[in-house]
Amino acid sequence: MEEKVTNMVYDLIIRNARLKDHGPSADIGIKDGNIRNIGNIKDTVPKDREINAEHNLVIPGFVNSHTHLDKADLLSKMKPSQFGGTLEENRRLIREFKENYTIAGIKERAGRVIREMAKEGITAIRTQVDVDPTAELLPLKAICELRKEYVHIVDIEICAFPQEGVFKQGARELLEQALNDGADLLGGLPLVEKTEKEQKEHIDVLFEIAKNYDVELEVQIDESNNPEDFMLPYLVEKTINEGYEGRVSATHCISLSKVDNKTASGVIKRVKEAGINVIVTPSCNLITGFPEIRGSRSYNSITRVRDLVENGVNVAIGTDNIRDIFYPLGNGSMIREMHVLATATRMSRVEDVVHIFDMASLNGAKILNLDYGVDVGRQADLLITGSTTKRGVISSREIIPYVVKNGRVVSQT
Ligand SMILES: [Zn+2]
Repeated sequence: MEEKVTNMVYDLIIRNARLKDHGPSADIGIKDGNIRNIGNIKDTVPKDREINAEHNLVIPGFVNSHTHLDKADLLSKMKPSQFGGTLEENRRLIREFKENYTIAGIKERAGRVIREMAKEGITAIRTQVDVDPTAELLPLKAICELRKEYVHIVDIEICAFPQEGVFKQGARELLEQALNDGADLLGGLPLVEKTEKEQKEHIDVLFEIAKNYDVELEVQIDESNNPEDFMLPYLVEKTINEGYEGRVSATHCISLSKVDNKTASGVIKRVKEAGINVIVTPSCNLITGFPEIRGSRSYNSITRVRDLVENGVNVAIGTDNIRDIFYPLGNGSMIREMHVLATATRMSRVEDVVHIFDMASLNGAKILNLDYGVDVGRQADLLITGSTTKRGVISSREIIPYVVKNGRVVSQT
């Protein structure tokens, strides 16, 4: 194997790449989309296949573990009077938009946002896509087409998301159809149902469908910033009872921050036992506070990230909504999300910053089953940053000088 590597002509060589904070620099040789060599590479390649990282940090690509591409940039279609509505008003508004969706319209908005994300260093995305009696399968069709068209710059995983619940006439059949038509996994939103009993039944239905189709589940849970919504314990017990350990992600989990330490600690232990991934969407979580529940405390806006990490739970970061009804300020930058997370959770120690980078990349890659890392043999999805330390990247102006996807430079800033 060694011999072969020495004689190999690389597709790309990154020179003087710093592999970790304050560590030494090395060259990275890439061939056929994989990292083949890290060290002092004597081989030469034509100038246009070589990048000098100038001793800046080279890190794995960002994985945006939770976003909504089908709704992305709806802001460009909204009137100012439509901003800042209550949860109910927002849901009505999104239904109106969806009634007028076209495949070309969705692709135009979502395609633009995919290109922006690629430039920001996102090399893989898990997107939720609305599947419900209003939109039916139109958004799914649009995002499936985009997934093919952008396969060279980003991996896209599609989660069929019941924005209008699972009990409406035809809702369940549409979710099942979506799993036949290109969706990779099933999403959930218990909060959309009216009573606690129905919210639990919503979760039951999700497991029935997921098990039938043998797909993973990602459930958006406890995201209202209302501490009385605490459905996570039910999701955890259900995961264990159904034997679905390691196949479920819980996104948001805000209420976990509000309950007392003893309760939280017990639930976190069970989250770990259930092998549930927790996905946080920091900036979007912070802004969530619908007018009807403004009495709720604002400090419980982000889940207990530090406690989850310390208990060995796989925590990943998503940007959530990008410039749409639910979050007009979303911009799709993982550096910004890391910054907000570090700030809101006071995670600023050196080891915290390392964890936060893992959340923005390796931990998400684990969820999406991608082979990420700056190691020989792994997928060459790499970012050449403009800083020598991770902390430097977080506090930077959010510019990624080079984005490499499958060994090809897809963005240069
Ligand atoms: Zn979301």
